[in-house]
Amino acid sequence: MRPTFRLGRIAGIEVGIHWSLLVIGVLLVGSLAGGQFPGMAPHVHGSYLAAAVLAVFLFFGSILAHELAHSIVARRQGQQVEGITLWLMGGVSKLGTEPTNANDELRVAIAGPATTLALAAVFAVAAVAFDAVVAPGTLLPTVAWWLALVNLILGVFNLLPGAPLDGGRVVTALLWKHNGDHRRAQISAARAGRALGALLVAGSLALLLSGYDAFFTALVGFFVLSSSRQEESSARLLRTLDNRPVREVMRPVVQSAPDWTTVAAFGPNPEPAVLHGWDGTPTALLPPNAVFAVPPEAREQVQLRSLGVPLDQVPARRSRCAGHRCGRGRAAGRGRECRRQRGRRLRPRRAQDRGERRSRARSFNPVAGSSRARRSAHRRRRAGSRTATLARRPTPGRLLRLRSRRSSAAGRSLH
Ligand SMILES: [Zn+2]
Repeated sequence: MRPTFRLGRIAGIEVGIHWSLLVIGVLLVGSLAGGQFPGMAPHVHGSYLAAAVLAVFLFFGSILAHELAHSIVARRQGQQVEGITLWLMGGVSKLGTEPTNANDELRVAIAGPATTLALAAVFAVAAVAFDAVVAPGTLLPTVAWWLALVNLILGVFNLLPGAPLDGGRVVTALLWKHNGDHRRAQISAARAGRALGALLVAGSLALLLSGYDAFFTALVGFFVLSSSRQEESSARLLRTLDNRPVREVMRPVVQSAPDWTTVAAFGPNPEPAVLHGWDGTPTALLPPNAVFAVPPEAREQVQLRSLGVPLDQVPARRSRCAGHRCGRGRAAGRGRECRRQRGRRLRPRRAQDRGERRSRARSFNPVAGSSRARRSAHRRRRAGSRTATLARRPTPGRLLRLRSRRSSAAGRSLH
């Protein structure tokens, strides 16, 4: 979901709106001013239109507060927040990274509905205050009551137990905590979401056939249904990719072509290719099957450069330093150590330090390790894959270094 207009930054988080929000805003203002508010408060002073505009603005503000709560909690926990977009179905917080544990997932999930329910309480108190003291006989209490009601409905609806709703994220976190398997928890929550979406659609259709206006509920049901399917398939894909080196799932690009080549000259070739400029420098990547998107009559004119993805936009993962003593790791070639790590290794060490390292390396047994070492099995696997190139040539010196690295990786997981 890309925003059509950018509103700016709130608490450092980019906020934008999609054009569909304006459409739903106009419809909502029309519905409130034309029917709901006159029905709720028939004999009061003030303009129903102005009250409806105020109510819709505050409602969108409430949705923004809900999303900001998600995003701020996520950012505090170290997750990357790419921005918030408000649209037809409410708001979307785009998080660049996943939570690292079930508690983080739970906190992010619960922050949104908690904010919405708190806002419902605030608007209810404001409605009572407006009615009794501040502005009796005006439309302000009506606006506040309406906002309290919609926030209450929104908060409760969001807590329904099915992904992609917040309640689904709560279910994910609890299952993750229980069985320790993030992907399995995500798949279960997405399945629950699918059942919930189907129930919403069926219920809305039944209401529509009975003559009730349940069009928007049906739309929400369809949204939940389709999003839960996407969530399930992406969780399944991630389960397949987890702990798998990138090279196992990558497709090697074996051909290249000058980027000024026309599609006709390149031919009906479905394979990806590296495109290069006049001086032979790679400029872009031609995706697989891209040439077939060009109509046959235009293939003589269209050049491959217009179909290629510029190299700076191609998703790439920088290799981490093979000598993981660098902490977070620094960019280096696959299986190689970065400059800082090499420097550390080559620096002369004190004899005492060397002796200590050797004893640590000998005491480490990857098969029958201590309970601490068993708990950090995942870290060890990662350490093992990083040192794979060294393991292929186990000369005594290299073997010692390899063991030493595995040992220090197991130690790192204790922090
Ligand atoms: Zn939410």
